[in-house]
Formats: sequence, C-alpha cells, structure tokens
Amino acid sequence: MHRRQGQDAALSDLSHRDTPWDDHRARAADVQAIYSELSEFERLAERIGKCSGVLRFGQTPDPETGEMMLRLREAQFCRVRHCPVCQWRRSLMWQARFFQALPGLVEAHREARWLFLTLTVRNCPVEALRPVLKDMNAAWGRLVKRPEFRQVQGWIRTTEVTRGRDGSAHPHFHALLMVPPSYFRGQSYVKQARWVELWRDTARLNYAPSVDVRTVKARPGEVDGDVSQALRRAAAETLKYAVKPSDMTADPAWFLELTRQVHKLRFIATGGLLKGFLRDGQESDEDLALTDGDGQDDGSRVGFNWRPADRRYRRYRQADAEPKTE
Ligand SMILES: [Zn+2]
Repeated sequence: MHRRQGQDAALSDLSHRDTPWDDHRARAADVQAIYSELSEFERLAERIGKCSGVLRFGQTPDPETGEMMLRLREAQFCRVRHCPVCQWRRSLMWQARFFQALPGLVEAHREARWLFLTLTVRNCPVEALRPVLKDMNAAWGRLVKRPEFRQVQGWIRTTEVTRGRDGSAHPHFHALLMVPPSYFRGQSYVKQARWVELWRDTARLNYAPSVDVRTVKARPGEVDGDVSQALRRAAAETLKYAVKPSDMTADPAWFLELTRQVHKLRFIATGGLLKGFLRDGQESDEDLALTDGDGQDDGSRVGFNWRPADRRYRRYRQADAEPKTE
C-alpha cells in the first residue's frame, strides 16, 4: 500500500481548475508548522492539521464540451481565520454570494455605478495593530455619516493587513461603493482630494493619508458600458484575503503577533442595500465547499487526500462512493 502511494493520480493532473488546492493546502501546512512552535497556538495548529484532508468530488458534464468535470461536494474545513485554505474558500464564497445578489440589485437600480475605494493609514508596528484597526473601524463609522457618503446606496468594506518591508504592518480598507449616476454630476461628485480630506478628518490623522478611488468601468476591448467584468475584478480585489499567504510565512514572528492583534476583530462590514449578506465566521462546510446552486448530484464520489510528503492531493479510493440507485 505504502509503496504505491506516489503512483496514485494527482488531483492537479485530473482537474485543471482544481490545481490551486495543492498550493493553498501546502501553505496551510506551513502555517500549521509556525503555530505549532508556540503552546499558545497549539490548538490552532491542530485544527489546521485536520483541514481539508479528504476532498470528495461529484462528477458533472461540462455544459459546453460534455466532458466529465469534477465538482467538489464534501470536505471538512477548520475555519481558523488565517488558514490559507479556509481564507481562500471564504473569499470564493463571498464573491459567489455577491454575484448571486447582484442581478436583483442591478435590476432594481439599473443605473447604479460602482466605486472601488482604498483607504490607508501609515504603517504601524505590528505590536500596535489592534488599536490602529479599532480606530480605523471607528473612523469608517464616522465617514459613512458624512454628507458626501450619503449618496452611497450600498457598500462592502474589507480589512487587509500587509507586511511592510521593514517588518511593520500596513493596515488598509478596500471598499466597493454603489452610487447613483447623479454622483458624477456637478456638486455631488467627490474628487479624490476630497476623499483624502474626508478620511483624514474622520480618522483624525495629522497627515494626508493615501487614498485611492476609481470608478469601476469596462476596459478597452470589453463591451462598452458592460461593467460586469470590471465589477468582477473589483469584487475579487475587495473580497480577497485579509493577509497575503506569503506574508504569513515570510516572517513567523510577525505573523504570530498579527494573529494575537486581530483576534476576534471583524474584517468585513456591509451597509445600505448590501447590508448583512456577507458575514464573518458563520460559514458551514457546505458553504466553503461552494456546493450550492447545482442540483445535479447522483451521490457518486471521487476521493482525493492530502499527501504531506509530496504536498499534493492524490486519488484516495477509500473515499469513493457509487452513484445512489433509486
Ligand atoms: Zn482551514
């Protein structure tokens, strides 16, 4: 049995679109190793160790080619905040939810336009991150009450922390704002310089912070006026990871301190028409497997398991199941 392990087919060879699994799961193993160094984080290390060990796929025909495609049906996730696998699945889940809600929103607000806003503050020592993030959250609460912001019909805001080259922490917000066309007319338009002032005042900063604001619009070559591709890119950017996986492993001491600093802080917030449909920390295994919205399931399963030695998922027939016959 053991001798044959290396010969089992790899998931990445059988299903091209599932190639990211190996990379994310390998990073999870690295994060687990970092956590296991300190007794304080032992429990997190244990949980990550059990994350997504076995993946069970169903098979569905590709609607275009008729070829059989693997589609994830069952897996068990650890839900540790900084687990690279869970962070990746959560990001995909949020993006899927956003795009499920969108047609209804756009139908009701055909004219809606979108802004992609990034608000930053100066880097801080990672040991000082928690109060800085709390202040930023309070500042956001003041910002949304400003008259300029009242034009915003709905918003999603996420927190990201990257690692500065000098080992500092760089916290920032990404936000997607839904605005009516009147936003772009005359007095209503909020220039970038005004966003800088608004953020400086509401965050009570004694310097002009770096603020990036751009209208979500189609790129040259995309159908004119069709922002769906552009919105997809902006949503992917907003709803990505909170901490870049490479930042987690580049400097273990930085990452361990970050874990302490952000404990139980919320990293996603929503308001207006988008209020409440993306939440932190309530996802089930089914949510993270992204199984919903597809009724075709004959009960058959194709199993794969994680092989730590060669850092790949390979075929694991013990987890297979025959189609259910009724
Ligand atoms: Zn996990």
